[in-house]
Amino acid sequence: MKLRKILCGALAALMTLSLAGCGGEKKTTLIMATNAEFPPYEYRDGDQIVGIDAEIAQAIADDLGMELVIEDMAFDSLIAAVQSGKADMVLAGMTVREDRLENVNFSDPYTLTAQVVIVKDGSAIVSPSDLVGKKVGVQLGTTGDMYAEDIDDVTVERFNKGFEAVQSLLQDKVDAVIIDREPAKVFISQNEGLIILDEEYTVEEYAIAIAKNNTELLEQVNASLAKLKESGKIGSIINKYISAD
Ligand code: GLN
Repeated sequence: MKLRKILCGALAALMTLSLAGCGGEKKTTLIMATNAEFPPYEYRDGDQIVGIDAEIAQAIADDLGMELVIEDMAFDSLIAAVQSGKADMVLAGMTVREDRLENVNFSDPYTLTAQVVIVKDGSAIVSPSDLVGKKVGVQLGTTGDMYAEDIDDVTVERFNKGFEAVQSLLQDKVDAVIIDREPAKVFISQNEGLIILDEEYTVEEYAIAIAKNNTELLEQVNASLAKLKESGKIGSIINKYISAD
């Protein structure tokens, strides 16, 4: 009798513990990996990470009934983070590229954008073709880095943050910076004497990167994205951060 009481008590305690641990009220977490150095897509506002990607991820998490957690890391660690399962998805203004598709899957794209060239006002570089033989600043591991590498006789200077590439342009340590259009607009608005060349370097699409083996999440994210595009939510998030011009 006594033993039974003790066993029952222990069992009840265990059940309560396991409920608290994996069920009940607690939502499944959805871990987004990003590099919060990329305004207006992701940047810090106090101790919060905000921006277009943070809001799109939040809208997806809400739709899936999950709790969003954002992990900030170097841009060139993002793909490894989803491959290792450290994060569930990457939203980092990440461009869909064939070579990246060897390591991760991409969701349907959520934005069409471009790579642009920033130079000092009055520079002899007036079009992307003038970059031959020049010193070009980029953010390490980005598509800007990959395009710069292909320019003839170029010297590529790689920085951990896009902003640092822009600083080195201001200090005349590089002749130009190749970077995504919207961060470029933010950086030139914060610094005097810089312009964006009219001719874009290339057009690109951003999408969400997910581990190859997590096709379940890929399908959920694509279904959510479709809903959020349809309802106008994605458009309104983008419009909140990017003024039409
Ligand atoms: N769109 C670029 C890429 O995917 C840069 C992204 C970034 O710097 N966050 O490489």
